[in-house]
Order: sequence, then structure tokens, then C-alpha cells
Amino acid sequence: MKFIIASKNKNKIKELERILNPLGIQAVTEDELNIKIPEVEETGTTFSENAFLKANSACKTSGLPAIADDSGLCVDALDGAPGVYSSRFSGENADAKSNNALLIEKLKDVGIEKRTAKFCCSISVVFPNGDEIKCFGECKGYIGFEAKGTNGFGYDPYFYVGDKSFAELSADEKDKISHRGNALRELKIKLKEYLDA
Ligand code: IMP
Repeated sequence: MKFIIASKNKNKIKELERILNPLGIQAVTEDELNIKIPEVEETGTTFSENAFLKANSACKTSGLPAIADDSGLCVDALDGAPGVYSSRFSGENADAKSNNALLIEKLKDVGIEKRTAKFCCSISVVFPNGDEIKCFGECKGYIGFEAKGTNGFGYDPYFYVGDKSFAELSADEKDKISHRGNALRELKIKLKEYLDA
């Protein structure tokens, strides 16, 4: 059985292959199928809605079951921002550097005890018959005052769990506690249940 992964991110594709292969599922991308999935506008107000929009578009275009995810950072002192706007927090041409600079600026008067935050990840699997499997994972931590570490991406250098930032963890250490790792572990269970039924 083939599933299309609605992502161009090589790391995400590898992570998903590790979950799908033992279930007898072959993960394929739009490039491998030689098709073009139309760019989806992420108009949802939740991670779950955006994951569905991406998976649904890939399923409709390819005729295959499709998997997509959407993730981001939610900061309590900013009422959950940047949330679904995490990748474009600091505007159209945002990158990790400008997003982190804006985050730290907005939190400049916020004390350590109020800097709590969480990373969230929603995964959607859409089947050609309209069925959907939804998975969700989160990881709670806080936004530090200084960047630490060189691993990972995005907000990792400022997101701390205990006394270590995500950017100080190895990929394996991050997988064990991360929002994406938790969502993928749920995906493994729910997909197996769905396929066995
Ligand atoms: P996407 O789900 O790949 O579109 O990610 C949305 C944005 O959320 C990314 O561009 C990052 O800014 C942020 N983000 C999501 N997951 C992580 C993570 O594990 N570490 C750091 N930033 C993340």
C-alpha cells in the first residue's frame, strides 16, 4: 500500500518512513509520483485544520491516502501566539532569526515564571474514501532569555525543557519528548488500529 507524504522536508519524510514501513506502507512524495500538488493556503485557525487542508489536497490530487502535518509554538504570555503563524511570525520574509528576535523582544518584560510555552504538532491522514485519522502531540517548556545550542531549527535555541534548550538535544533525544515525536507515536497506534479494522 502506498501513502503520499505532503511535505518537501526530507527530515519529516524520513521520520514518517520509519513509522510507515513496519506497517507495510510505502511512503512516496509528489516528486516520486511525478505529480504536482497545488500549493495549499494555510487558512485554518488550528494546526489540525491546516494539517487536514494539506493532506486533503494531496489525497485529491494523487488518489492515494495522504499524510500531512502542521506544527508551531504557542507562548502563554502571548495568548498562544505565534501558533499557526509560527513560520511567518515576523512577516512575509520571516526566517528563524527574525522570528526569534521578535519573540524575545515581545517577552522582554516577562519574568521566568510567566515564560511558559509549548510546541504543538497535528498530523492528518486523509483516505480517498473520505476517512480521516487525526493525531496530536505537544511538548511543554519555556522560552529562555538566551539562545543555546546549534542543533534543530526554528525556535529550538530559545525553547527550554528543564535546563536544556531543544537545540542542545540530539535528534534522538528531541524525538523522545518532542511534539512531533508524540504525534508520530499516536499515529503509529491509530494507523495500525485503522488498518487492522
Ligand atoms: P511547519 O509545521 O513545518 O510548517 O512548521 C511551522 C513552524 O513552526 C516552523 O517554521 C518553526 O518556526 C516552528 N516549529 C515547528 N516545529 C518546530 C520545532 O521542532 N522546533 C523549532 N521550531 C519549530
